[in-house]
Amino acid sequence: MKKIKAIIFIGIFFCSFFLSNTIHAHTMLSSQGSEGLGYIVGPQHASKSSLTYKLDTTTVYIASAAVGATRWQDTGLVTVKQSSSSNNHIWGYYDKNTSTIAFNRYTYNTATNIIIQFNISFNDYYMSTYTQSRRNKIGTHEWGHSFGLKDLYNDANKGKIMYGYGNLMTSNNPTSFDIKGLKIGIK
Ligand SMILES: [Zn+2]
Repeated sequence: MKKIKAIIFIGIFFCSFFLSNTIHAHTMLSSQGSEGLGYIVGPQHASKSSLTYKLDTTTVYIASAAVGATRWQDTGLVTVKQSSSSNNHIWGYYDKNTSTIAFNRYTYNTATNIIIQFNISFNDYYMSTYTQSRRNKIGTHEWGHSFGLKDLYNDANKGKIMYGYGNLMTSNNPTSFDIKGLKIGIK
């Protein structure tokens, strides 16, 4: 029987997780890090350093998704490449009756917590009103979830790329704290 479980983080960003059953290596049984440490990662995580993605529509978020991919690559730790054959999708949608700006929904192996496939979705209702600078921040943030990084909500973490309120986050790029989490997520 296929179990489906959805977890929603309250906030402007949210993430939903769906369970599935493929076999992989590199098990992580609980999350690591904390608000105090400035990063939270896992237990769902990429367990690899190379990701691909496919752009499915052509709206205002397109450039921010590509910029976000580049900013993670600039850490020197990962590659994130566009590919027409990728199973990982970048979508746009329009919903004015929500506080969600964007989200990353993924399937993962329930035994190892390794992410199998992900979809990053941007709400054009908000994205269309933002400066390109803020779109890029949000685009970069959403990629963090694909590696296994979780949202941070303490005010002290406003400067981290994984801060969960997209209209208040101040960082353009992954910080040294985000990178600590990244290194765990890609193991
Ligand atoms: Zn988030």
